[in-house]
Amino acid sequence: MKSEEFRKNGHALVDWMADYMDTVENFDVRSQVGPGDILSVLDDEPPFEGEPMEDIFDDFKEKILPGMTHWQHPSFFAYFPANSSPPSVLAEMLTSTLGAQCMLWQTSPAATEMETRITGWLQKITGLPTDLHGVIQDSASSATLCALLTAREKATDWRTNKEGMNSLSSSLIVYTSEEAHSSTEKGAKIAGFGKDSVRLIRTDNQFKMCPEALRSAVVEDISKGRTPTCVVASMGTTGVGATDPLKAIGKVCKEYKIFLHVDAAWAGSALILPEERGMAEGIEMADSIVFNPHKWLLTNFDCSAHYVKQPELLIRTLSILPEYLKSREQDHVIDYRDWSVPLGRRFRALKLWFVIRSYGVKGLQKIIRNHIKLAEYAATWIDEDPEFELVSPRSLSLLNFRFRPKNITKSGDIDLLNEDLLNRLNDSGRVYFTQNRVRGKFTIRWSIGQTNTQLKHVKNAWSLIKRVSSNLNQIDSVTINRD
Ligand SMILES: *Cc1c(COP(=O)(O)O)cnc(C)c1O
Repeated sequence: MKSEEFRKNGHALVDWMADYMDTVENFDVRSQVGPGDILSVLDDEPPFEGEPMEDIFDDFKEKILPGMTHWQHPSFFAYFPANSSPPSVLAEMLTSTLGAQCMLWQTSPAATEMETRITGWLQKITGLPTDLHGVIQDSASSATLCALLTAREKATDWRTNKEGMNSLSSSLIVYTSEEAHSSTEKGAKIAGFGKDSVRLIRTDNQFKMCPEALRSAVVEDISKGRTPTCVVASMGTTGVGATDPLKAIGKVCKEYKIFLHVDAAWAGSALILPEERGMAEGIEMADSIVFNPHKWLLTNFDCSAHYVKQPELLIRTLSILPEYLKSREQDHVIDYRDWSVPLGRRFRALKLWFVIRSYGVKGLQKIIRNHIKLAEYAATWIDEDPEFELVSPRSLSLLNFRFRPKNITKSGDIDLLNEDLLNRLNDSGRVYFTQNRVRGKFTIRWSIGQTNTQLKHVKNAWSLIKRVSSNLNQIDSVTINRD
């Protein structure tokens, strides 16, 4: 493609992008296509001759868009948000255009030094301890894997890296709570701990890890000749948003010399609000922390901020230096390739620089604070409605609730009723929620945090929930017991 043609197409696409941002609310939030619908409209054979960009773009609009779920729709209340914002998109365009592979300082000094500066900015605006060093990973799962690998090597004095798991005479144990994200178990499998060596520690009635239960598990493992190696604590669990008592957990880790990693993937972004920093009490005891600006800080996926207290441990765990990766500056600069599992790295810091400069800390605080405020409203409406209940306490901008009309009493029936309600809401295309189970109860999980979500979207969602639920209840319980 000649640059003149690129320019023309580029302008047309940017026009479309701006229109999309203005009109995203006209789309169904969750794609309404069925399995195989999109596959069937995609040509079986790749074209032998090149095609004009107009045709490709037309097909994108006609064939692809219907199969997209609109994560940037302000009535997207599912999972956690995957924020985007105009400055972030603009930066991504530049990143793509530069097309740099930023694995070493030398392969793009600006990318490396920007990453150092920007992780420093994030550390300041979230109030994280100043003795941490940041790196940007592709995802929280990768950061947690890096933490588990570092913990493994530290516990075995770097023997596992050299001799493999066969060299171990004692099994290495990982601890996390029963509410923790699946990425810990996945990381433990990949890192060779094995699923059976992951202890899911009991949580209290607030869904927080019980530090006494952690201590008992550690003591028991030691008595059986095993090696407690890593604790992964959560700041904001995925299901209900619980934050583990970091201080008490940190004490146990210190006493038994266990590596402490804090998974704050979603909730970490809320630390930009000074009034929310109570949840970080004890965070200074962590060896490693991760949170995702790509969830709730207006920055496109992928962008995960990972902080470590002793980067030399992470580097010693991951570094490998074949001749072709050597550079004359290597002893004086940071080569971030040694801080993450993949060698190749995108220039991810650029979009954060655009976002933070464009909104300012104040602008970002205003948006996150508003999301939390909206969740407070929604929690109040649910609480005050005799036919609804909150199934777990609101955490920041996350709620779990269910419909609980007086005429239905069997718990299985209530579950089915809510499943039906959730499907009807999502099939309407006007909103998108995900399901959860809280201590066995089926719940509708309401996560607020798309960049442009405002009071009217939350109000409209609540009216829709009320309307659909009251229709549903009139259908009578025979329909609910359909199976
Ligand atoms: C979303 C989430 C993750 C996974 O994040 P990725 O960046 O997709 O790997 C991990 N932990 C928690 C608590 C999460 O909410």
